[in-house]
Amino acid sequence: MQEYDVVVVGKGNAALCAALSARDQGATVVMLEAASEDEHGGNSRFAGGVMRFAYETAEDLRRVTEITDEEAANADFGTNTREEFLDKLYQLTSYRTDADLSEILVNGSLDAMVWLRSKGVRFVPNWGRQSAVVDGRRKFFGNMPVEVSGGGAGLVQYLDAAVKKADIPVLYQTRAIGLIYDGATVSGVHVRQTCRALEIRAKAVVLACGGFEANPEMRARYLGPGWELAKVRGSRYNVGDGIRMALDIGAASYGNWSGCHATGWDRYAPEFGDVNVGDQFQKHSYIFGLLINADGKRFVDEGVDFHSFTYAKYGGEVLKQPGQFAWQVFDAKVTKLLRSEYRIKFVTKVSANSLEALALQLEGVNAGEFLKTVRDYNAAVRQDVPFNHVIKDGKGTVGIEPPKSNWAQPLDTPPFDAFATTCGITFTFGGLRIDKDSGQVLDSNLLPMPGLYCAGEMVGGLFYFNYPSGTGLVSGAVFGRIAGTAAGAASKN
Ligand SMILES: Cc1cc2nc3c(=O)[nH]c(=O)nc-3n(C[C@H](O)[C@H](O)[C@H](O)COP(=O)(O)OP(=O)(O)OC[C@H]3O[C@@H](n4cnc5c(N)ncnc54)[C@H](O)[C@@H]3O)c2cc1C
Repeated sequence: MQEYDVVVVGKGNAALCAALSARDQGATVVMLEAASEDEHGGNSRFAGGVMRFAYETAEDLRRVTEITDEEAANADFGTNTREEFLDKLYQLTSYRTDADLSEILVNGSLDAMVWLRSKGVRFVPNWGRQSAVVDGRRKFFGNMPVEVSGGGAGLVQYLDAAVKKADIPVLYQTRAIGLIYDGATVSGVHVRQTCRALEIRAKAVVLACGGFEANPEMRARYLGPGWELAKVRGSRYNVGDGIRMALDIGAASYGNWSGCHATGWDRYAPEFGDVNVGDQFQKHSYIFGLLINADGKRFVDEGVDFHSFTYAKYGGEVLKQPGQFAWQVFDAKVTKLLRSEYRIKFVTKVSANSLEALALQLEGVNAGEFLKTVRDYNAAVRQDVPFNHVIKDGKGTVGIEPPKSNWAQPLDTPPFDAFATTCGITFTFGGLRIDKDSGQVLDSNLLPMPGLYCAGEMVGGLFYFNYPSGTGLVSGAVFGRIAGTAAGAASKN
């Protein structure tokens, strides 16, 4: 038997932030990672690394990353005030987000970024993915101008170095399978380490071991029939262990248990994420093209908003289509606007010089209906509004269902390219209910459970139906810090 002040279950972003925060309270800490050292880091390691936080001025951004005077003078970083961030969260979650949790997330977001930087994380302006030059000046869109250098893999690497520096041991291939609980207090975890069973005792346990996105049985049970067929965008280790362990001893479930974050993802991507490809199986430029299902029909408004505010729910829409796939179709006018992920080596793509020739290559699609859909769409595009990809340009369609609200241009310029996608699940929204100030898990009477804390994807109540991009990592940092600090302090009392 081993004994520590705090045991942190998981080794993704939320767990790393929790472990460092507990250590800062003077606690002895151990981290348990189900994966091997090669595969450590959870979904955090697969993440693109964009992070959404509240800021108003370039000075706020300079607390997080280096921006030279020249860069500041030549760029419009926009804003993401607390009000804007909170409004977006409310809007996208249909006003379901927990009022206390979302306020803590938003209000704590800039501080969390500054703290991450103090722990050695390097941030850079997101020149590549979220900006474009407009009238000689770089303009950022999507209210998210900063990303981690090296993406999610970089984030895990920086925090891993901080954990080593703080002398926090990590036990790999050590899967937590149950909580040590006497009916009143949690005092450690039961683990399976390779082939042996162990107990690790602690005064406080922080669960930060992800949702149930990599568990097909739980996906079908909670998200609904068909979800077992989704591809997993990231780690194969997030199988709902932490949530199950806590529910087993009476923790309260919370949030949108039938909801998840899921995106368009290469149709033939592997079952789980590939760290060498990272997030590049995603296909986020659909706002400039059409999404076509097996019946040859469109099924969503591709241009209702920037991808940051629709991509997390459109994966689920693709899953609902016959055969669970959709082709993204573009013409040559927008080729230069497609994100880098459209140019990777592993991509399911067809091209043709006419729509008729393309139709024959769209595997599984009713070619005649596809051609009719494009004809109707082309005829419906408003000609009186100019196209502008850096704003919601209002260049929409008239008289077709579903409409395309922005960035609608006729599909008329060869060559035409099409990319086959299916649904890739990122993480699940349902989780545990926590005390907002301490991250302590609440029981079903909504009373704090002594010794038990949680953070990251496991926290229920923040996201419902949809999600603004870049919020997962910030949420992990904000609630990881809160849980780690409280667990560390409690273990010293
Ligand atoms: C492809 C992709 C791209 C993304 N891009 C972005 C982005 O750009 N910006 C953003 O904000 N978010 C992004 N996300 C979402 C983001 O990655 C997650 O919200 C975030 O990483 C969750 O952090 P976490 O620490 O809660 O979970 P994870 O990082 O998944 O960590 C969970 C940890 O728990 C471990 N574990 C699981 N079960 C056990 C067990 N029983 N015992 C011990 N250990 C266990 C896992 O191995 C892992 O180490 C992306 C996700 C993916 C998959």
